[in-house]
Amino acid sequence: MKQNKHYNIPIFLPELACRNKCVFCNQRNISGTHHIPTIQDAQEIIETHLTTIPTSGTKQIAFFGGNFTGLPIEQQKAFLKLAQSYIHKGAVESIRISTRPDYISEDILRMLHSYGVKDIELGAQSFDNEVLALSQRGHTSEDIIRAAELIRTYHFKLGLQMMIGLPGDSYEKSMHTAQKIIDYKADTTRIYPCLVIANTVLADMYTQGRYKPLDRATATVWLADIYSLFSQHNIRILRVGLHPSKDFESSEIVLAGPYHPSIKQLALSQIWKNRFAEKIKLKKGKLHISVSAEALPYAIGYESSNKQWLRETYGWVAIHTDTHLQYDEFTYCYN
Ligand code: SF4
Repeated sequence: MKQNKHYNIPIFLPELACRNKCVFCNQRNISGTHHIPTIQDAQEIIETHLTTIPTSGTKQIAFFGGNFTGLPIEQQKAFLKLAQSYIHKGAVESIRISTRPDYISEDILRMLHSYGVKDIELGAQSFDNEVLALSQRGHTSEDIIRAAELIRTYHFKLGLQMMIGLPGDSYEKSMHTAQKIIDYKADTTRIYPCLVIANTVLADMYTQGRYKPLDRATATVWLADIYSLFSQHNIRILRVGLHPSKDFESSEIVLAGPYHPSIKQLALSQIWKNRFAEKIKLKKGKLHISVSAEALPYAIGYESSNKQWLRETYGWVAIHTDTHLQYDEFTYCYN
């Protein structure tokens, strides 16, 4: 049975809603928002979105960015009351929030539940305590575990977001974080490569030579392996990389780091390249590869990168579609 498309009505809360100062964070640049929206602002955002979303879709009001449960409790309740009024009217199904692991308690979860919150996303970022400390996250991996377990106990859907390439990070540590997100049974995840944004502590560390971001090729290889691991364990990947924005093209805002507007496409192309490299034996003759129509753009690769690599490696190559194949499958033959 075909599922209704899901729509989030996003209300961004900038870092003003957060008392922490993670080294990489300048929410003002990331969310494009400079002040906490008022209740009236939030209402206008919701109303505007409702006029553009098809009535057949499922809808959720999503308080993104910042640190929702770090807001003063009366402010949280005012936002939630507004969002809940749209649930009562039947205009939206539920509410999602994003917050930090150390701002989750049983009292907070009971309050969120009473207003109709169904999904909680935690910025976990890493399960490695050294990475968390160097990133000045202000919480440990034990805090993530405690919060994740509480959220599951209270029957919310759990999202755990991670970042790659933070200070002190490595391929092994990022894979360990991904494995922990699986072990703690997250329903969803988001994967963000760490960027050096202007006016952050990380920008100072970068200019002083104390931090080196991942280059794009390395980030793509890590993302491909993490993406594959999550897919094998049926963890829904809601996002790879930040939403493309003109701001991120500006070297005054993103000083360094693996920003690319199509970073997800790069990672999916890399997954297909890995598959081909592992399975296709080099033989004499013309190589014909078949994939599903859905997989075709990634099999060919971003800007035909895989096709070019296949030609360099195997000689003559053609990639066809085959309606009998699932997304992850391919067949090949030589003639
Ligand atoms: S907790 Fe989130 S909003 Fe707060 S400083 Fe860290 S990354 Fe930014």
